[in-house]
Amino acid sequence: MIENNVKKLLSELPAINPYGEKVTLVAAVKMQSPEDILRAVDAGITDIGDNHVQEFRDKYDKIGSAPRRHFIGRLQTNKIKYLLGKIDLYHSVDRMNLAEELSKKSAEKGITSNILIQINIGKEASKGGFALEEAQTAVENIKALPGLKVEGLMAMLPDTDDKDYLYTLAKKMRKLYEDLKSRDGNIKYLSMGMSGDYELCIEAGSNMIRLGTAIFGKRNYNV
Ligand SMILES: *Cc1c(COP(=O)(O)O)cnc(C)c1O
Repeated sequence: MIENNVKKLLSELPAINPYGEKVTLVAAVKMQSPEDILRAVDAGITDIGDNHVQEFRDKYDKIGSAPRRHFIGRLQTNKIKYLLGKIDLYHSVDRMNLAEELSKKSAEKGITSNILIQINIGKEASKGGFALEEAQTAVENIKALPGLKVEGLMAMLPDTDDKDYLYTLAKKMRKLYEDLKSRDGNIKYLSMGMSGDYELCIEAGSNMIRLGTAIFGKRNYNV
């Protein structure tokens, strides 16, 4: 099933978005076994994204760094040390003190951590991220920190069937992304789109999607 899902997705996903940018598929691997993750990698997945530091640590040795490693979950500052140097792209830098700590720890270790700034585009209390209105200032402030390279933006759209509303939000993200990109050559990723909304997100200009259910099937939270 996983093999088929991956092959189908890879053949059906548009290679480029309407802006001519390559679309990168990141497999969201929370709650998946190392065996299933490796199955997805064998079928063609090049990038995998973790949500939980403990799960990442438990599975790291079995999976390693051959697929590019992304961190897509909410990150507590006291857990940064377990990820440092092992993550190719942090998607979820959602607050100033996380950026500061990641900067400090990266600089101490003599490395540069690549990050995306998370925007709470739906203004949802349940989600982290900077408000759209404060995004430009946040990006400028974070860019000034050592040990970090800001490569773009990440957003999670609200869970609703109102496609027009979702598309409007996705377009706002694209607009912000372009504003930033026009002034900064390092900006290259707009990470937006999950199993329920990725088509709409690509259409609106996302160039990185994070799919879990579409690859691995429905997660079982009761195990
Ligand atoms: C779980 C998760 C995804 C994937 O969600 P699906 O709906 O299963 O595709 C994407 N992004 C983040 C941040 C997630 O936590």
